[in-house]
Amino acid sequence: MHALIIGGGIAGPVLAVALSRVGIDSTVFERGSRDDDRRGAWITFQANGMDALRAIGMAESVEALGYPVDRIGFVNGSGRSLGGMPMAARRLDGQASVVMPRAELYRALSDRAAQQGVRVEYDREFVGAERTATGVRARFADGTTAEGDILIGADGIHSRVRQTIDPAAAPPRYVPVLNIGGFIPGLAVDAPDQEFVMQFGSRCFFAWMRTPDGGTIWFANPPMRREPARGALSAMSDAEWRGWLRDLMRGDAGPSAEILEAAPAPLTGWATYDMPVVRNWHDGAGRMVLIGDAAHATSPAAGQGAAMSIEDAVVLAQCLRDCPDTGTAFSRFVELRRARVERIVEHGRRSSARKAAGPIGRLVRDTMMPMIFRRAARDGGESMMWLQGHHIDFDAPVFDPSAATK
Ligand SMILES: Cc1cc2nc3c(=O)[nH]c(=O)nc-3n(C[C@H](O)[C@H](O)[C@H](O)COP(=O)(O)OP(=O)(O)OC[C@H]3O[C@@H](n4cnc5c(N)ncnc54)[C@H](O)[C@@H]3O)c2cc1C
Repeated sequence: MHALIIGGGIAGPVLAVALSRVGIDSTVFERGSRDDDRRGAWITFQANGMDALRAIGMAESVEALGYPVDRIGFVNGSGRSLGGMPMAARRLDGQASVVMPRAELYRALSDRAAQQGVRVEYDREFVGAERTATGVRARFADGTTAEGDILIGADGIHSRVRQTIDPAAAPPRYVPVLNIGGFIPGLAVDAPDQEFVMQFGSRCFFAWMRTPDGGTIWFANPPMRREPARGALSAMSDAEWRGWLRDLMRGDAGPSAEILEAAPAPLTGWATYDMPVVRNWHDGAGRMVLIGDAAHATSPAAGQGAAMSIEDAVVLAQCLRDCPDTGTAFSRFVELRRARVERIVEHGRRSSARKAAGPIGRLVRDTMMPMIFRRAARDGGESMMWLQGHHIDFDAPVFDPSAATK
């Protein structure tokens, strides 16, 4: 069997490796070039994502990246603690979550896939596909085509494959907070070891973490109720971003002023989106299926987008290995994944909403959060085990033929 994988971001290369483990050959087609800069300077890669990589022998390619995060501590605008929670719940393997440059995660995964013989064709923009008598034909912007038995859309939140499968699919939903942040070498802010401090400031959410080598990772989520016009954010100058963030953080306790002073130029921010419910993850004919952000993007507030995409890739390979045909494999994949990822998208939406709360919402949040965290501290992070404690045993069968025939 030959699989055409559209998108060489996070899910694409991982899927190619996972498929090779179950004897399926594939080619990845990526719109960008090999050295494209990736948006979203730093990401939190949660423990369940590393677990899923480990399931197919890819974890060591990313284990050396970034800095482990043990805990998140929350404070309000005046610096009062609202509580905190462990980052990786109580995983038996002790796997921590790690914060790392997004570009390095992409590079590590695609390098590892290349080492394992995966073919990635860059500068190939998918524009559409048709079913053929025996499989599927993909068309590319340069006029070329490629044929395979199945086609997997790992082409991210603005997926063209999603539109091909279901032209009436709902568009991504705008999340009313922006994203901006980065790394400042040589600025060691005052913060506990391995703790990401997150501040619900009076006008803006702001977060920072001191790294063991004396630097600071930071990000902010300035609220923006209406979706910005295309190009509006990239047209903002460094001085405009810096000035706006300074105004938003003025009067709040903490190191935001110091961070904004030291952050390397140019500052630039991004609008964020999620994909709450994509009705059709596959074409119903066993030819095309979606994984990762194309099927269910979560707002960055959940810190789970990368991990979810990797879990998808691994589980889809298991389904193709164990199910009698590709149609059954795609249906089983949806059965195994939909409830979990939609719960995470909702978790991300609620986290983002808390970041953009108005005065009454802030009052409720500042009253409720300490109670929620006290409960979480009592259960030692057990309540988050469903998220970060998830474990994939790659060799375990995921399909029971006797149950299917009953
Ligand atoms: C600002 C920001 C911060 C984030 N922070 C976090 C975080 O802290 N933790 C976390 O886990 N996640 C975070 N995420 C989300 C995370 O990056 C995504 O969930 C993850 O990258 C999804 O992987 P994917 O492979 O499905 O899609 P992507 O990584 O988006 O990859 C899709 C690939 O498909 C390619 N492509 C698109 N269209 C076509 C086409 N027509 N033809 C060919 N190729 C195409 C793209 O060029 C891209 O390389 C963040 C995202 C952003 C934007």
